[in-house]
Amino acid sequence: MARLLAIGECMVELGDAGSGLLRKGFAGDTLNAAYYARTYLPTPFDVAYLSAVGTDLLSEEMLAFMAGKGIVTEDVRQIEGAAPGLYMIHLKDGERSFSYWRSASAARRLADDAAHVRSAIEKADTIVFSGITLAILSPDARETLILELRRARAAGRRVVFDPNIRPRLWEDAATLRSVVEAGARAATVLLPSFDDEQAHFGDADPEATIARYRQWGAETILVKNGSGEARLAAGAGDIVGIAPPKVETVVDTTSAGDSFNGAFLAKLLTGVPPAEAAAFAARVAAAVIAHHGALVPPAHLPQP
Ligand code: ADP
Repeated sequence: MARLLAIGECMVELGDAGSGLLRKGFAGDTLNAAYYARTYLPTPFDVAYLSAVGTDLLSEEMLAFMAGKGIVTEDVRQIEGAAPGLYMIHLKDGERSFSYWRSASAARRLADDAAHVRSAIEKADTIVFSGITLAILSPDARETLILELRRARAAGRRVVFDPNIRPRLWEDAATLRSVVEAGARAATVLLPSFDDEQAHFGDADPEATIARYRQWGAETILVKNGSGEARLAAGAGDIVGIAPPKVETVVDTTSAGDSFNGAFLAKLLTGVPPAEAAAFAARVAAAVIAHHGALVPPAHLPQP
């Protein structure tokens, strides 16, 4: 049995259901990626989540939701008195914006216990985390998590990092850059989005993003680029372009990058060559943005 472990925060999502009513859901970047990986991985593979929630009813519901999607929750710590983070989606003239209540969420404590992090990582072959995962942690917990990920990499595990840069979550720009660099140095596979990298590291083009992450030690780098060509550098190989399918009507871009990551990893874990895995991931992301919501049901997604 092989296991993919995603590390991060799942939040309660409140979306407009009309007439002043709100619809409750659950989502978060790494959880979304885990959902898409689970959708495409054959059964002998496990997909597990490492996070922290509370012991309240909403936390129990969240755990049941994950389990219902086939995600193993044994490494989600339950902290007495804590509660999950929450965000609300506002829709105005077709544009989405978000309000967050996550500053005191249980997930911020997901890496406070080094022994727990280590035991969860040791059960996995591939570990995926993001810049959001790092941003929400205390400085000490960031160090703990990065240290454990470096150990995992040294032990031969595949460590996957999406910098997924959200400046509002970071205390300042210098910390953002230095912690993202430390995260990248712990990883073997990098899945950045070019617009983020350009804005925060000043990369002129996706090739510059690849060069920087190569210098920091990544083996495989796949730079997502919205409707533009993604760029893949696998090992010492040449950089190849992956053109995404044309999407006539973009309905909701939520989870474009997360679904891309999950589908790419599912293929990579089953031995599909990286370029083929990336082309498949682009097809999945194209389907996801043509539908509403972060977690698009399998019936609307490409066949494996
Ligand atoms: P993020 O959502 O993380 O910011 P991107 O905007 O780069 O990341 O999108 C991630 C992936 O989703 C892209 O690499 C591409 O495959 C797909 N994608 C995003 N926007 C479009 C689009 N307009 N048309 C087709 N594919 C898209």
